[in-house]
Amino acid sequence: MQHPAAFENLSREDRRFAPTEEFAEAANVTAAAYAEASADNLAFWAKQAERLTWAEPFTQTLDWSTAPFAKWFVGGTLNVAVNCLDRHVAAGLGDRVAYYFEGEPGDTRVITYSQLTDSVCQAANVLTSLGVKAGDRVAIYMPMIPETVIAMLACARLGAIHTVVFGGFSADALKTRILDCDATVVITADGGFRKGSVSPMKPTVDAALLGCPAVRSVLVVNRAGNDVDWMPGRDVWWHESVEAASPVHAAEAFDSEHPLYVMYTSGTTGNPKGILHTSGGYLTGCSFTQWEVFDLKPETDVYWTAADIGWVTGHSYIVYGPLSNATTSVLYEGTPDSPHQGRWWEIVDKYQVTTLYCAPTAIRAFMKWGHETLANYSLESLRLIGSVGEPINPEAYMWYREHVGHNRVPVVDTWWQTETGSIMISPLPGVTHGKPGAAMKALPGIVADVVDDDGVSVPNGTGGYLVITEPWPSMLRTIWGDDQRYVETYWSKFPGTYFAGDGAKRDDDGDIWLLGRVDDVMNVSGHRLSTTEIESALVSNPKVAEAAVVGAADALTGQAVVAFVILRSEAGDGGPHVVHELRMHVANQIGKIAQPRQIMIVAELPKTRSGKIMRRLLRDVAENRPVGDVTTLADTSVMTTIAAGISTGM
Ligand code: ATP
Ligand code: MG
Repeated sequence: MQHPAAFENLSREDRRFAPTEEFAEAANVTAAAYAEASADNLAFWAKQAERLTWAEPFTQTLDWSTAPFAKWFVGGTLNVAVNCLDRHVAAGLGDRVAYYFEGEPGDTRVITYSQLTDSVCQAANVLTSLGVKAGDRVAIYMPMIPETVIAMLACARLGAIHTVVFGGFSADALKTRILDCDATVVITADGGFRKGSVSPMKPTVDAALLGCPAVRSVLVVNRAGNDVDWMPGRDVWWHESVEAASPVHAAEAFDSEHPLYVMYTSGTTGNPKGILHTSGGYLTGCSFTQWEVFDLKPETDVYWTAADIGWVTGHSYIVYGPLSNATTSVLYEGTPDSPHQGRWWEIVDKYQVTTLYCAPTAIRAFMKWGHETLANYSLESLRLIGSVGEPINPEAYMWYREHVGHNRVPVVDTWWQTETGSIMISPLPGVTHGKPGAAMKALPGIVADVVDDDGVSVPNGTGGYLVITEPWPSMLRTIWGDDQRYVETYWSKFPGTYFAGDGAKRDDDGDIWLLGRVDDVMNVSGHRLSTTEIESALVSNPKVAEAAVVGAADALTGQAVVAFVILRSEAGDGGPHVVHELRMHVANQIGKIAQPRQIMIVAELPKTRSGKIMRRLLRDVAENRPVGDVTTLADTSVMTTIAAGISTGM
C-alpha cells in the first residue's frame, strides 16, 4: 500500500559499475569504514579530526546539549590557515604545487605551498593594518584567481569571517549580502575575464557600497587592467599593499567553534540564506571527505574541482579540503567554451589531471556540443570523476562515464548542500558498485534516512523526504543573524532531525536516489511525482539536450506536468511531431501519469550561477504569473527570452 506522502517510484535501473580490482585494492577507504562508523559514530569522527593539527586538543567530541545548536570538538583550538599551509611547509612540502592556475586569456601561474603561505601572511598583515580583527566580516567579490584563495585564507588566519559573493552577481545582490552580514571590508578586483572579454567588477562594488555605509576599506586586485574609479582613503591596491607587506605573520589559534565563513545558498527555492560554518568541524568534514570520496593520493594526484569559488563546492573542494590535505589542484578562471569547446579537456591533458569534479549542467552542455571534441585530447590521466549540484540524469552519467571516464574510472555522484558543508551521500569509489543516477549511500559517519509525512522510515522501493538523523561535524551552525529561521527551516518539520528539503527514494536494494526539491514536487491526480525522474526520461530521448519539469495548476488533475525542453542541434526546432514524440517517450519510459500536459521548446533554461535550474521561475511562466526574484540567475535575460518565446508560440 502506497503511503499518501510517498513519491511514486517511477523509474528502474539495472546497470551497475564496480570499481576495477586494481582501484579497489589501492583505495583509501574500504567497506569496513561503514561498520566502524555505525559502531560508534562519535569515536569515528574524533578519529577523523586527528587529521588536523590542533593547538589545544579537544576534550569532548560533540556537545549537543543545546540542540540543534551543535558544538564539535569542544575545547580544541586551531588555526584553519595554519592547517592548510604552514604545517605542510613545516613538514617539508613547501615546494609542492598548491595550484596550477590557468587564466581565461591563457596566462598561467604555478603556486607552491611556500609561496601561498607567504602571500597569505602578507595579506593577513595588510588586513590587520586595515583594522580587521577576529570576528569581523570581510566580503570577497572576485574572479577565479589565486588572490581569491589568498584573501579567504588571510581572513581565516585572522579569525575574520569571509563571505564570498559570486563575481557575476549584480550590485544589488552584493549589497544585500554585505548588509546582511555587516561586512566592513571588501576585497575585489578591477575586473575578470569572461568569454574573451573583460568583465568589470570594481564598478559593481562601487555601486553596491553606495548603500553600505559601514564598509570602510576596499582592497583591489589589479587583474584585468580596466579603468576604475578610485576613492582615496577607502580604496587600496593589492599590489601596492599586499605584495609589499611582510610575509611574516604569527597566527593565533581559535576555538574549534570560531566562525569561519558565511555562504549564501544559491536561492533556487527562495531567498538565499546566510549559512554559517565554523572551524574545527567544518575543516574535519571537508578534509576527510575529499580524501575519502576522491580517493585522494596527495603525492601524485592533480585534482580539479571545476566550479566557482563563490559556491560552497569551491569553498570545500577547491580551497579548504584540498589545501588541508596538501593537494595539488587546478584553478581555472574561465568558462568551458572559451576560447573553444575543448578547453577543459585541454587543461586535463596539459596538467595530467587525475580527478575531475563538476556539475551535471556542464556535462549536459558537453553532450550538446558532441563528444568528438574530446577525442583531440588525452584523458588517460583521469582516475576518478565526480558530479555535484543537481541529480545527474542516468543518460548524462553514462555519457560522462563513457566519453570522459572511458568506461574505466569510477564516477561519484555526490549529494550535499551549502548547509551540510561537505559531501554526505556518495558512492565510495573503491567499494560501491555505482548505478547511473544514484547517490547510493550515506557516507560512513553520516546517518541519512528517507521518511514519510509522519517522519517514519519508508520501505525500500518507496520515496519520501531526505533527512539526516545524527549531527555531523561540518553541519551549518545557524543562519547568520537568524537562529529562529535556522530552527524553523531545518529542524521543525521533523523535530530533532535535519530536514534537507529534498525528495529521495530508496530503491529495492536500499540505495538512495535524489528526486528533486520538495518545493518542486508535483501532485497529479493525487500522485506525487518527482521532477528529476521525468526530466531524466526526457533527457534519455536522443533529441533532447536538457529538460526542466514543473507542476502547474490544472482544473482537472490539481496539477499537471509542464516540461521545458532544449533540443539538441540535430533535432531541428521542434515542430508538433517532436512534442508528440516526447510525450509518448515519457509515457513509455515511466507511464502515462507522468506524461507532460504541455511541452515548451525553449532555447535556454533559467539557471543559477552554480548551474542549477530555477524551476520556481518556470512555474511562474507555466501558471502565467509575473516571474519572481531573478537576482541569483546567471543570466537575467533568460526569463524574458523564455516568456517571449512562449507568447509567440516558439
Ligand atoms: P536554496 O537553498 O537557496 O534554494 P540551493 O539549495 O540551490 O539554494 P545549494 O546549497 O547550492 O543551494 O544546493 C544544494 C541542493 O542542490 C541540494 O539540496 C539538492 O537539491 C541539490 N543537489 C546537490 N547535489 C546533488 C546531487 N548529487 N544529486 C541531487 N541533487 C543535488
Ligand atoms: Mg537549499
